[in-house]
Amino acid sequence: MNKPLISFEFFPPQTPEGVEKLTAVRKQLAVLNPEFFSVTFGAGGSTQDRTMETIRLIHAEGHHAAPHLSCVGSTRDNIRALLLAYKELGINRIVALRGDLPSGMHSIGEFQYANELVSFIRAQTGEHFHIEVAAYPEFHPQARTAHDDLINFKRKVSAGANSAITQYFYNADAYFRFVEDSRKLSITAPIVPGIMPIMKFSQLARFSDMCGAEIPRWMRKTLEGYGDNTESVQAFGLDVVTQLCEKLIAGGAPGLHFYTLNQAGASLEIVKRLGYQ
Ligand code: FAD
Repeated sequence: MNKPLISFEFFPPQTPEGVEKLTAVRKQLAVLNPEFFSVTFGAGGSTQDRTMETIRLIHAEGHHAAPHLSCVGSTRDNIRALLLAYKELGINRIVALRGDLPSGMHSIGEFQYANELVSFIRAQTGEHFHIEVAAYPEFHPQARTAHDDLINFKRKVSAGANSAITQYFYNADAYFRFVEDSRKLSITAPIVPGIMPIMKFSQLARFSDMCGAEIPRWMRKTLEGYGDNTESVQAFGLDVVTQLCEKLIAGGAPGLHFYTLNQAGASLEIVKRLGYQ
């Protein structure tokens, strides 16, 4: 079986120690020859400079770097300036998102949805960037209906997105169904599953409540049962997530995008167990 394309996502560190730690994490993950490392962007621009700086470091190390860019709360001028700065730096892949308005921020700015950002990137920079967008196999929490969400996904691809990365999920069937339904709507872009390794149950439960990703009951009950026993949580997580990845690849997923939370261990171990190291 061919090795699937693998990519890793980081958040921009806040402290010099965080920067140092992430450099070490990248070094560990680089041996897997990833397609790219991506760096998140705090909606409303809260991490704008730190995202750019992290991208600069990754690029300087000779890796492919993909900044995330979320448009909510922003202006055309600001997004244009960021696109040009990234272009000048030699970056050619962007993850284009709407983002969620941070609490306390009231103006959505000049873009309402991610499809508008994708159109804007194409209008400003032509085909320079490979554009990734977000996709939701278990559907975005604000979508009126599942079908509406698929139509909105199609809108982003029609606006010029090249491929998609999904929200994480633990139910492979949701992904396969989503891909099948997308193909029925003539969406041909690759849809790469987002993979969330399990490191801490309380953290995972919090994320999942926020983003609408389901932790299946059998998993939730098992993880709850482990309480503070981190070793058991992580051992269970590695088994479950490795099996999920195996199923996804066997079923035709074009790659795996790991939400690393700036840690190398779990992602490395999963890729090793998959036999891709
Ligand atoms: P959209 O595609 O705009 O969709 C948002 C909602 O609006 C959906 O319910 C959709 O169905 C609906 N919708 C879309 N278009 C229309 C329309 N024209 N009319 C009516 N309804 C519409 N957030 C960050 O802040 N920073 C990050 O770095 C970041 N990285 C992410 C990476 C990945 C791979 C993923 C999956 C998510 C990421 N997020 C990030 C979270 C993301 O910003 C949120 O999930 C956000 O709520 C939606 O962003 P979107 O780009 O999917 O929005």
